[in-house]
Amino acid sequence: MPDIKKILVANRGEIALRVMRTAREMGIATVAVYSEADRHALHVRYADEAVCIGPAPSSESYLRGDKIIEVAQRLGADAIHPGYGFLSENAGFSRAVREAGLIFIGPSPESIEVMGSKLAAKKAASQYNIPMVPGTEGAITDRAEAKLISGEIGYPILIKASAGGGGKGMRIVEKPEDFDEQMDRAVSEAVSSFGDGSVFIEKYITSPKHIEIQVLGDQHGNIIHLFERECSVQRRHQKVVEEAPSAVLTPEIREAMGRSAVEVARSCQYYGAGTVEFIVDEALNFYFLEMNTRLQVEHPVTELITGVDLVKHMIYVAEGKPLALRQEDLAIKGHAVEVRVYAEDPATNFLPDVGTLHTYVRPQGNGVRVDDGFEQGMEIPIHYDPMIAKLITYGQDREEAIQKMIRAIDEYQITGVQTTLPFCRFVMEHEAFRSGNFDTHFVAKYFTPDKLSPTPDADYRQVAALLTARVLEQGRKRAALPTPGEAPGAVSKWRNRKN
Ligand code: ADP
Repeated sequence: MPDIKKILVANRGEIALRVMRTAREMGIATVAVYSEADRHALHVRYADEAVCIGPAPSSESYLRGDKIIEVAQRLGADAIHPGYGFLSENAGFSRAVREAGLIFIGPSPESIEVMGSKLAAKKAASQYNIPMVPGTEGAITDRAEAKLISGEIGYPILIKASAGGGGKGMRIVEKPEDFDEQMDRAVSEAVSSFGDGSVFIEKYITSPKHIEIQVLGDQHGNIIHLFERECSVQRRHQKVVEEAPSAVLTPEIREAMGRSAVEVARSCQYYGAGTVEFIVDEALNFYFLEMNTRLQVEHPVTELITGVDLVKHMIYVAEGKPLALRQEDLAIKGHAVEVRVYAEDPATNFLPDVGTLHTYVRPQGNGVRVDDGFEQGMEIPIHYDPMIAKLITYGQDREEAIQKMIRAIDEYQITGVQTTLPFCRFVMEHEAFRSGNFDTHFVAKYFTPDKLSPTPDADYRQVAALLTARVLEQGRKRAALPTPGEAPGAVSKWRNRKN
């Protein structure tokens, strides 16, 4: 296969920039595609060429595979990187890219198809000796039998949609009397959300950790793993804090999980970067949950502890090259923590809080990496995921990485929207997190908004709002409006006050 000379990145925001940066380091030209809402976005400015592909809604832009392929062909790109989300796990898109004579920087359509269905994934993985959560093997067709099995595995149980994703399509059943009602709800939700009513049953692990393994495979059958990421701090079954390595795995369990992950990947002839997710119980028994056939949001923590640029290797293997890494050469060095900075308000159950970034100053310094796609004065569009940035810190050990994270969170200046930063600071300081002894119920167990230390932001926002109103009022009188960002700067002493 020829070496890739120009990559179109079929995505936006931080991940589009992330991919383009590595491409540039490799001497590969880049093409951005963008929606009308993203005209001034950083990924558009960073790319060598950029093409608007449609209006703001993603169904009319970032999900228009046909338009994206057409742009790639017209501009002479030879490969497409899908990032995460949007078309990244769409087997039809991956197939269409290949049929258009282009390289899809990701796995084969067949691998995406198998792992896109939780049931098909479990079936493929069951050829190998991979631990699974006790439950039904296939989609439930016989309710009486399903009830019987649920009784055998023991309540509480979880009814899951085979086509589910993003933390949606799951129902807990606490006791047998609730079985029928929850089953009806689960099926109707699965039909309305995913267009597929197939559901199955899993034992509900009451105190689980979410630990996943990064894998990388080439087109010649070589597959390696790059250790684990712990992602148990979640809200709405979605991750918000991640770290690598996990604070609780022993070297033996790590190795066993790594081996299992490689086998899951082998079960669908996987190549490219992928993630095998496991759920781990209190006794550190691990069970296969699902495989994500793309680059994950939280991939930087793995990059920091292994020194491997995952995007670079994705590009190499997409070119058909054999893996340039061997399992025995990989080792964990240091510790990395990532927090997702969402434009969400932790005080209102993490409701999105999009708007304009009046102040936006990134933290810097030793061991700090910020992957973002915004600048001061920019608007966070309502049409997409409200993630502003990923803040990642790296230290010699876990304690140092956490200390750096607290320092970096305190340096991060964001006003105009509420963010998850104060919540993430709460996590970093919490003794359960510090001890490593926490599970996916961290938020439910420990977090209430009153636990957030009063940040200067709250005062700042009030003052900024008052000031903006006054300036606007004066401006209206003089018919001259201030430039965005100017007015809040006038009260910067509020920001400098420490909590
Ligand atoms: P999705 O595809 O929607 O992300 P997953 O199967 O990956 O669904 O599960 C998402 C999260 O739901 C997990 O990280 C975990 O917090 C919870 N979860 C999933 N399966 C179980 C289970 N059997 N027992 C307890 N919690 C579970």
